[in-house]
This record gives sequence, structure tokens and C-alpha cells, in this order.
Amino acid sequence: MSTNLFDLSGKTAIITGCNTGLGQGMAVGLAEAGCNIVAVNRSEPSETQRRVEASGQGFLAVHADLTSTAPIDDILYQTEQRFGGADILINNAGLIRRADALDFTEQDWDDVINVNLKSLFFLSQAFGRACVDKQRRGKIINIASLLSFQGGIRVPSYTASKSGVLGLTRLMANEWASLGLNVNAIAPGYMATNNTQALRDDPQRSREILGRIPTGRWGTPEDLVGAAVFLASRASDYVNGHTLAVDGGWLGR
Ligand code: NAD
Repeated sequence: MSTNLFDLSGKTAIITGCNTGLGQGMAVGLAEAGCNIVAVNRSEPSETQRRVEASGQGFLAVHADLTSTAPIDDILYQTEQRFGGADILINNAGLIRRADALDFTEQDWDDVINVNLKSLFFLSQAFGRACVDKQRRGKIINIASLLSFQGGIRVPSYTASKSGVLGLTRLMANEWASLGLNVNAIAPGYMATNNTQALRDDPQRSREILGRIPTGRWGTPEDLVGAAVFLASRASDYVNGHTLAVDGGWLGR
């Protein structure tokens, strides 16, 4: 066994929504720590593939729209065929819809909850079952949000989903810790990705947000890598049900 607590050599991680943004950053970061990557996306993750393969690790792209749970069995099946199963699952795919709560539509509610919460749970369940069947240790990392802790504004389904992610992370940890599964979450702060494009394009909102972040800058996909490698590795074997904020200090204000 490697003496490096953070070494992921020989491990395989399934990462959803990693053709861009935070998911891409974590896929590349885990690959650089030695991990093969199963990239689950709606579109071709060409840039992620190039960057993962440049680090010398195996890469498998699985096409899936996580609006429904239908693709979940295939994700596990393809992972099994190519890498003999997975050790790590990062539930990163997510979307946000913005509208005043008085006008918010049922469609915007369902679309967000289905991906951010429902598919996250059922993919975790499928991954958990596979680990238990094989008596294999597993690491699940859910991507939460500052809106797991705060209410937010004009994003009701997003707040509901991310608050739910924090609760589900605890529930799954409570049930599965004794089975050798670590379930934890990362709550990114305000990160410069597609998810926050509308905020960054609004000069007033952008100024207000930046002025409240103690580090004085937006986060980057690379800022999540340390937390992701920690929670994916042996270093976190006794960490269960925790949601780790990587937010430049936002929640401390
Ligand atoms: P992003 O929009 O660049 O990435 C979101 C990813 O999810 C993309 O790959 C997208 O294709 C995928 N996705 C969305 N709907 C999908 C579906 N139906 N099926 C499959 N994949 C789907 O934004 P990001 O900021 O990189 O977001 C990644 C995660 O981080 C999300 O869960 C988001 O809620 C969370 N997050 C982001 C921030 C931020 O400031 N950027 C803050 C907190 C949490």
C-alpha cells in the first residue's frame, strides 16, 4: 500500500457532469492523483478526455441524461465492463433555474430536482449496492452548495435540491458507514463556471458577491481538487456525513 494517504493509483471514479466546470476540474485532479475516470455526460467530454489521458489514466465516456434515472444501470454496467467497477462516485451534475418564487414554474422545479436530487440518490444507491455486493470500499462525494446552508433568492428548486443533498449525505452516511462506504459532500462557494455566468454578468450582483467573499475572488475548478482528492482517498476513511465548504470564507462571514 502506498504511504501517500492521498494516492488514488489503481482506483476508478465515476464523475457526472464533467465535460466542463467543476466536474472537469475534479476529473483532471483525480486523474493526476492516479485515478481512472468514467465521465458521465449529455455531450462529448472531449476536453476532459484529452486532459485525463494526458495524465496517463484510463478514460471512459458514458452518455447519459440524468433528468431521468433510466441511464443509471448502464453507467454501472459500462464501468464494470471497462474497469471492473468503481471505487469513487462524484455526483456533480447539476443545474439551476432562476425566477421569482411567485412566478416559479413546475417545470423548473422538476427539472432541477430530478437531476440535482433524485438521480443523485439513485445513482448513489446503485453504486452503494455494487460496492456492498463486491465487499469493496466506496467513496461517494456529493456536490452541495452554499444554498445547502442558506436560503438564496430566486432559485427555489435549487435551494430545495442542495439543502436536500446535505440531508441525504448524512442519511446515506448513517446507513452505509458500517458497510465500508464514506458518504460526504463538498459545498463550493461562488465559482467562476457556467452556473454563475448570469451573476458574473450582472455588475451589481457581481460586486456585491465579491465584496462578501473574504478571499476577494471567485473560486476556480482547481480550488475544489484538494477537497475532492481528500474525500476520495484513504485520508478520509473516518470522515462520514460531512459537508465541506470550499468557499473562500463565505460562510464564516
Ligand atoms: P456547469 O454548468 O459548468 O456544470 C454542470 C454540469 O452538470 C455540466 O456538465 C452539465 O452538462 C451537467 N448536467 C446538467 N444537467 C444534466 C443532465 N440532465 N444530465 C447530465 N448532466 C447534466 O456548472 P458547475 O458550476 O461546474 O456545476 C457543477 C456542480 O457544482 C453543480 O451541481 C452545481 O450546482 C454545483 N455548484 C456550483 C457552484 C458555482 O458557483 N459554480 C456553487 C455551488 C455548487
